[in-house]
Amino acid sequence: MGAFSKIEWTHHTFNPWWGCTRVSPACKNCYAEKWAHRLGLDLWGGKVERRFFSDSHWRNPVRWNAAAQRSGTRARVFCASMADIFEDRPELDAWRKRLWPLIEATPNLDWLLLTKRPQRIAKSVPWSNDWPANVWVGTTAESQKWAERRIPHLVELPAKVRFLSCEPLLDRLDLSRWLSRDSDRRVDWLIAGGESGAKARPMNPAWVRLLRDQCLAEGVPFHFKQWGHWAPSTVSDRSGVETVVFRGNNGESEILAKLGKTAAGRRLDGRTWDGLPATA
Ligand code: SF4
Repeated sequence: MGAFSKIEWTHHTFNPWWGCTRVSPACKNCYAEKWAHRLGLDLWGGKVERRFFSDSHWRNPVRWNAAAQRSGTRARVFCASMADIFEDRPELDAWRKRLWPLIEATPNLDWLLLTKRPQRIAKSVPWSNDWPANVWVGTTAESQKWAERRIPHLVELPAKVRFLSCEPLLDRLDLSRWLSRDSDRRVDWLIAGGESGAKARPMNPAWVRLLRDQCLAEGVPFHFKQWGHWAPSTVSDRSGVETVVFRGNNGESEILAKLGKTAAGRRLDGRTWDGLPATA
């Protein structure tokens, strides 16, 4: 974990522990599990131990908070990239109990708590109806089925920012009921992106355009993180690489090539989309 995260929408990444158990199709090619394996660590599944860290590791957010205070800025902390902090394992409770006061003690940091288990948030945090102003809470919605299951839990939470991560985006989504400006149970920010890694599943550009357009229509900030391994291609860049054809929103076909994450980039229709919640 570097002090400065490579994830586009955050400044730092903090992991209270490493390790998790897969819960939905979004987890199929979990990059965190692959990264741990690459380091020779077996941390995934219900029966293996998680990896925990020293006091020095836990002091990092305090340092980041002091630096943000000195510079008069706010910094975003993604928690967690190598775990799901709401995983249902009793031995993690002690570490969660250590996390909540750390969040409260670092008011110059905005903590982005992203989970695929939003049904467990309310019973895990100590804040009831009085959440700290520096907590942003989000859940993953990779398909309509998982959006329907998870978002209703998210929008009940009185966090300052509620956000969605539609990455890896695996299907066409209609999220209009949770984006509507007429609803007091709406989300404040949406991140979308395709999957990276050698076994990445391609994302139909029509799916991400549809999400962008739903956000634009309702004034919800939209952040396009990446195409992932597959991206719309020109004739010249697809010679010799694997391709797939998708249908667009108007029935037209679009060819994607397996270009790799860096070449695929993060431009959508000629520009980047770096929306952030108003509070940021
Ligand atoms: S919830 Fe996140 S960390 Fe856990 S297996 Fe799924 S993708 Fe990996």
